[in-house]
Amino acid sequence: MDGRIEHGFRARFRALAVIAGRADPDEPSSRIVREARERARLAGEPVARALADAWAREVETAKDAWAAGAGGWSVPPPWARFDAAHPPRFLCDPSLGGLARWLRAAGYEALVAPEVPGHRLPDEALRRGLVLLTTEAEALDRRIAADGSLVVAWVPSALTMAEQLHMVALDLGLGLREPRCMACGGTLVPRPKDEVRPRIPPRTALWKDEYFVCAACDRLFWRGTHWERIERTLRRAVAA
Ligand SMILES: [Zn+2]
Repeated sequence: MDGRIEHGFRARFRALAVIAGRADPDEPSSRIVREARERARLAGEPVARALADAWAREVETAKDAWAAGAGGWSVPPPWARFDAAHPPRFLCDPSLGGLARWLRAAGYEALVAPEVPGHRLPDEALRRGLVLLTTEAEALDRRIAADGSLVVAWVPSALTMAEQLHMVALDLGLGLREPRCMACGGTLVPRPKDEVRPRIPPRTALWKDEYFVCAACDRLFWRGTHWERIERTLRRAVAA
């Protein structure tokens, strides 16, 4: 398990070093992974967490360098490719269905790929202009990822959902947007209470007046305790 995680992070560090124009992109990746492994051993914590922390520091440093116009970037980094008017849309590999739901709650379109051989996903994402999220580190090794035409983020399956979301938010500079339907990604449209009253559980109708319906799948939503719990997790993971 640790071997796969280290390989994935090494590929991540290397990919960042390559687009940042580092002459020896393997040097930082090997060093950072070695240091994180040592730190995890001393602290008795999972290697994945130590590597995720190291990644967060590396990205912050890279963001500062990009903002300052420093370095010899070969292509714009992932966080500089999108803005509020042009948010990223995601293609998640089949093992990341949970993360896709949370991305939708954060306001982003996230498709989950059907169960097809993983090597076809990079081409599919590139063709449709989607950011690929995958647990397969091999996707980072592909040419279209290396030359910057495909934006791909490897997501470690060993992290919790909130940690995965935090990592993707960090990579792409995501902020919270208007929530979408967690089930299908459709937009949520406010509807008058009287119009949807037959579908509201009687006890909810007593204390809630605001309701939303998914424009795509017609599911009914309201800001109940479940929604509030989701929003708290999102604020910690995305806006942190
Ligand atoms: Zn829906």
